[in-house]
Amino acid sequence: MLIVSVFILILIFMIYSFIPSNIEKKKFFNKNKKSEKVIYLTFDDGPSEYTKNLLQLLKYYNIKATFFCIANFAKINKNIIEIMKQDGHLIALHSLKHRNAMIQGIFETKLDLEDSIKIMKDLEVDVKYYRPPWGDSNLCLLKELKKKDLKLILWNVMAEDWRGDTSEDIIADKLLSRVNKGDIICLHDGRGKNEAPLKTINALKKVIPIFLEKGYKFKTIDEYEN
Ligand SMILES: [Zn+2]
Repeated sequence: MLIVSVFILILIFMIYSFIPSNIEKKKFFNKNKKSEKVIYLTFDDGPSEYTKNLLQLLKYYNIKATFFCIANFAKINKNIIEIMKQDGHLIALHSLKHRNAMIQGIFETKLDLEDSIKIMKDLEVDVKYYRPPWGDSNLCLLKELKKKDLKLILWNVMAEDWRGDTSEDIIADKLLSRVNKGDIICLHDGRGKNEAPLKTINALKKVIPIFLEKGYKFKTIDEYEN
């Protein structure tokens, strides 16, 4: 009996979240590279105490990025959201409080999304793009995103910049060796251990001039076509 119950639970998990999550991930991770020299900088897990510095850096190079904000963090950092708007960045959503959708039931999934959208609306941000924490989704989330006209956006380049044991040089090296035409780069301006976002910003100080020199253009996700 126990074995049957465990089997059913695993089956539900596979159908509800594991398989749909992986189908969505494959769409992004296995994408065909485009010939145009465009890259998409995206930042998750903010806004945070580090985001202002990042915005200054982007402004210096006149680069527009996409910020996948955690709604609860956006709520307590209204001034940063305002700067993002003024500077012409694209503000997108990264859930309410960074819970993994794989372990969220239907009710919690809906509530998370509804509360997030409401917070962003109160901040006068009309979100059109959504990136779930860890890129994990579930069937309910995918259905709700469609209903609410939110497009799911993952990434295809990471530099593991959230890790506590990384350094700005490691992040910079990973970006320089991994980034290619048409890539969506996922970095983090919040959370992370040992001042991880600070290392991300310092790595960007090194690599942005190199990418510009190579002729890359930085665009926001609303210009991404897949
Ligand atoms: Zn995240």
